[in-house]
Amino acid sequence: MGSLARVGVLGGTFDPIHLGHLAAASEVCARLGLDQVLLTPAHSQPFKQGIDTASPEHRLAMCELAAAEDERFGVSPVDIERGGVTFTVDTLTDLRAQRPDAELFFITGADALARLDEWKDAHRLAELATFVGVTRPGHSLEESEWPHILVEAPALAISSTDVRRRTRVGLPIRYLVPRSVADYIAANGLYYGGLDD
Ligand code: ATP
Ligand code: MG
Repeated sequence: MGSLARVGVLGGTFDPIHLGHLAAASEVCARLGLDQVLLTPAHSQPFKQGIDTASPEHRLAMCELAAAEDERFGVSPVDIERGGVTFTVDTLTDLRAQRPDAELFFITGADALARLDEWKDAHRLAELATFVGVTRPGHSLEESEWPHILVEAPALAISSTDVRRRTRVGLPIRYLVPRSVADYIAANGLYYGGLDD
């Protein structure tokens, strides 16, 4: 029997995916010697109920464009296919079933890690994956009580919220998202109007 593959899982709304996500994934991959990082776009985020997002299909497509540029990255549609509100406990349970060959590392930014005790079945999460907290500009990791490996990611003060806002007001998003993603946003007219934040 071979040893387990080390697989990172980066969950998010990815509305849209940006270079902050990819730099964090890349850094964790290198520092922890992971074989692969899976991007798992949420169908609908529990903390973002009532907030309009681009469709799951658009967000998934943008993740696939971004992942295609790096052989270490893959995309799992597990949360979008399950549908409904996405809970990490379900993401990790399903991935464990699909990938019995893998040891899972769930990667999360400082802002998300700080709220981990509000996540569904929080006490079970540590049994399903090792948690990896990555630093994020403007957020401190210190208050998190949850056991995690800390990885210092390159400080990229990029957020999807800001990418959407910039698109809406006509500011450039090039160098903040992969070029293929910027092209996809323009070609599909995403974020030009309507989304309200
Ligand atoms: P939004 O502004 O819409 O909330 P976001 O930029 O925070 O979008 P999410 O899809 O919410 O992106 O984030 C997915 C995961 O990536 C979270 O764990 C988040 O903390 C992490 N993350 C997002 N941006 C960065 C960044 N610039 N550096 C490090 N981690 C990040
Ligand atoms: Mg966020």
